[in-house]
Amino acid sequence: MSACLFCRIVEGTIPADILFQDDQALAFRDINPQAPVHVLVIPKRHVPSLQDSANEDRDLLARLLLLCKEVAHRHGLADSGYRVVTNVGRDAGQTVSHMHLHVLGGRHMSWPPG
Ligand code: 5GP
Ligand code: ZN
Repeated sequence: MSACLFCRIVEGTIPADILFQDDQALAFRDINPQAPVHVLVIPKRHVPSLQDSANEDRDLLARLLLLCKEVAHRHGLADSGYRVVTNVGRDAGQTVSHMHLHVLGGRHMSWPPG
């Protein structure tokens, strides 16, 4: 069993509200939502953060972004707008060391983030 929380969600040993998956990516609801829609999009392969990705991962990164767009579309956010965020490391407040894109929407969001 993996030590990584999100790898365990990929393995199915920790339950999650999974919305979509394919051979490379998984989308599931955040357990502590910060907006009416708060979905996490992750690579199934363990990549600690965006900083650990490489040129060879370009197709995977594109796949993840397009999945964020699809998640937003399925939640009716295409017109109202939404935010896609990936926290990298300490200063950004990354708490799970398995790369993830947050898809947030359904309310107005201010900028810059705190
Ligand atoms: P980060 O702070 O690393 O950018 O985001 C980690 C996110 O993972 C947080 O929004 C947190 O609520 C979410 N999270 C932490 N543990 C779990 C869990 O066990 N299941 C799900 N679905 N989300 C989790
Ligand atoms: Zn992992």
